[in-house]
Amino acid sequence: MLMSASSEFVALCREQMRLLVQGLGASLSIVYLTRELAQAPTNEAKLIPVVVYPETALGRQGLSIFALPKYNHKLLTAAEASSREDANVQNTPQQSLQSGEQIFVPLICEDMMVGLLVTTREDRAWNEQERSQIERIAQTLTIACILDRRRRWLEVQLHQQQMLQEKQQDLLDNLLHQFRNPLTALRTFGKLLMKRLRPGDTNREVAESIVRESDRLQELLKKFDEVIDLTATDLEPLKLPPSQEVVVEATVEKDNQPALLLPGTGEKKTDCYLAEVLQALLVSAQAIAQERNLELITDIEPNLPPVCANHKALREVLSNIIDNALKYTPAGGKIFIQVGKQKDNFQGIAITDTGPGIPPEDLKHLGERHYRGVQAQTEIPGTGLGLAIAKQLVEQMQGKIEVFSPAVPSPISSPKAPGTTFIIWLPLAKEKQAQHAIPNPS
Ligand code: ATP
Ligand code: MG
Repeated sequence: MLMSASSEFVALCREQMRLLVQGLGASLSIVYLTRELAQAPTNEAKLIPVVVYPETALGRQGLSIFALPKYNHKLLTAAEASSREDANVQNTPQQSLQSGEQIFVPLICEDMMVGLLVTTREDRAWNEQERSQIERIAQTLTIACILDRRRRWLEVQLHQQQMLQEKQQDLLDNLLHQFRNPLTALRTFGKLLMKRLRPGDTNREVAESIVRESDRLQELLKKFDEVIDLTATDLEPLKLPPSQEVVVEATVEKDNQPALLLPGTGEKKTDCYLAEVLQALLVSAQAIAQERNLELITDIEPNLPPVCANHKALREVLSNIIDNALKYTPAGGKIFIQVGKQKDNFQGIAITDTGPGIPPEDLKHLGERHYRGVQAQTEIPGTGLGLAIAKQLVEQMQGKIEVFSPAVPSPISSPKAPGTTFIIWLPLAKEKQAQHAIPNPS
């Protein structure tokens, strides 16, 4: 082998050239490959010999005799190559090969020349049937060469991708490391504040929120570490389908991967009291509303029955939907959170705002990962993941999210803004369900 081609490709070339010798009586065959793909038929390609068969011929006469005649650097179609061969070859110094007949078949795929097959028979000329057999062999070599080049290209891409990933991993490790210290400091400040504020001081709630949110961040950091430590062995091995057909798919378990990172995944559902879950969320929502000049109104019925849910997952769902209401409602607007309505065996939590609403064409895409609709054109930042995560978590809890835009009538309804209402329906805890007859919300 005189140029880098895979050993599999070289082996295949040899097999095909053995066919030329045994089946057609060829005395010598050479496969040349182009150094770069050349656009047929105008560009010139530099041809490099890759396989010579039989190799004994190489030892006996030296490589120089296999040098191509000068026109060979031009691309030819198979027909052109065969018809011109005599005239051209006779003009070359390689007279020892021209006692019989030499045939040149370019290896061409989709107008790109990838190489050339040269085969010689010393005792007689090739007939039409033999020529077409040689062309078929050339076609096989072309396909093999394309596959070989594609594989090497993919290997290079993979290598580059791995290097990039290693770099990103290092950067992420560094950033996460730097993230930890300020977070610990924030938590400590929160604790200090709590100690300094007397019981009953309204600011204690704020200090408690700082500590609670720092704890949440620390929990998320732990998950980051778990993900960073994932190795290839943690991924599902590639399974081949039982049939002959090989379908290559991404090996990542689609369901496991995102779920692994979502809050509450793998934890049991328990009886959750909505007022309790909302209490902590409302402290920070009120603070954000105040800062953004929004009015946050709540109507939470007392003595609500518990719902069957996962506390962390529920907090994440509510937090994402309240965050949207706070984010998309312009200053001066209102947000209304109402809990109390029950339908069948489900408890509803309605979050209504006086924001711009969601256009009908966006409504049908809500819940798709990274979908931001009209808001993608605005300055309001977002990743388009909040609702997708909320939807996934609510479905895991056998609940449902309804969206209404314009918003459903409520105490904050305004003729000036269409607004939006999200209603999260969660199943009531088991013993409460007995009081209802119909199993699902419609
Ligand atoms: P993030 O991932 O940071 O939450 P996001 O808010 O853009 O980004 P989602 O919460 O998934 O993503 O919301 C998807 C899209 O739905 C938003 O980009 C916005 O177009 C629309 N949307 C959601 N809630 C509201 C709302 N209350 N008012 C107006 N549009 C909304
Ligand atoms: Mg959002």
